Amino acid sequence: MAGNQAIYQVAVRRYDRPFRQPLTTHHGGWPGRQGLVVRLVDGDGRVGFGDIAPLAWMGSESLQAAIAFCRDHPQISAAQIDAIPDGLPATQFGLGMAREQMGQPRSPVPNWACCHLLPTGPAALAVRRESGQTYKWKIGVAAVAQELELLHQVIMTNPAGVRLRLDANGGLTWETAVMWLDTCDRLNAASAVPIIEFLEQPLPPSQATDLWRLSDRFTTPIALDESVARWEQLQAWQQQGWRGVMVVKAAIAGSPDKLRHWGQTPDLDLVWSSVFELPMTQRYIAERIVGPLPPSRAVGFGVNHWFADPEDDWMEMSQVWDTLPLI
Ligand code: MG
Repeated sequence: MAGNQAIYQVAVRRYDRPFRQPLTTHHGGWPGRQGLVVRLVDGDGRVGFGDIAPLAWMGSESLQAAIAFCRDHPQISAAQIDAIPDGLPATQFGLGMAREQMGQPRSPVPNWACCHLLPTGPAALAVRRESGQTYKWKIGVAAVAQELELLHQVIMTNPAGVRLRLDANGGLTWETAVMWLDTCDRLNAASAVPIIEFLEQPLPPSQATDLWRLSDRFTTPIALDESVARWEQLQAWQQQGWRGVMVVKAAIAGSPDKLRHWGQTPDLDLVWSSVFELPMTQRYIAERIVGPLPPSRAVGFGVNHWFADPEDDWMEMSQVWDTLPLI
């Protein structure tokens, strides 16, 4: 059977990949990535793998909610995949990916410019940074005066031509956001090329009006991330006239098909970014969601060095599958 009538057998395995060190954000310490690999098999025996990688503090469903959906669907039709509720965006993505990947050759490893994630706090100073590269540094974790002092140290020890993205994960107040953006505007004005590419999600998503006000008031761009975690939020901000940067974490944004079509809207200023999904998923996002044109901004996929296990272990899912625990 083809099209919407197709029925797939669903099997799900769990994966758990600890980070070398916990990633500290405004939301606390994150020890590693847990997710689900979903395998669909169609009536002709063709196999497709997908990755369900929820991040509840980013606005997606919980891992438990994704597991519950999969347990309820030992078989699923194409129409049921299209009808997965919007409250389960990572599940929409993972099953949509598995269906599209069915019988497909492995996507190539993308050759794109990555933004590299630095450790939070003073540990960033110990990382060797390279000229011409883009780095992300999490803020909103310690006292603002201390972090601003550290920012100056990071910049002083950067080689020429390094660009920084600051990511507050919604952890600033109006007052501290103004302090950060004042500093960023001054640093950028004093440099031939902007040192600070943007400040990401200074305020929580609930403070939409103040996010607009900050973007009007300062020269340093504001990037939305938690505010636009899901596809319908991306669409809503864009339709309301937001012309700033939007971070797109495809693996938790919802149906791949919707995201792909929306991503072709002209004049979007997007940063394609990771939620520490599997390598096969990063390749799929690059090939099937982002498409052949090189992204205008460095992508946020420079994260695989955070994992304790080597990326090569995950290259061929058909070989990894049998080693993964059942849910
Ligand atoms: Mg972010």
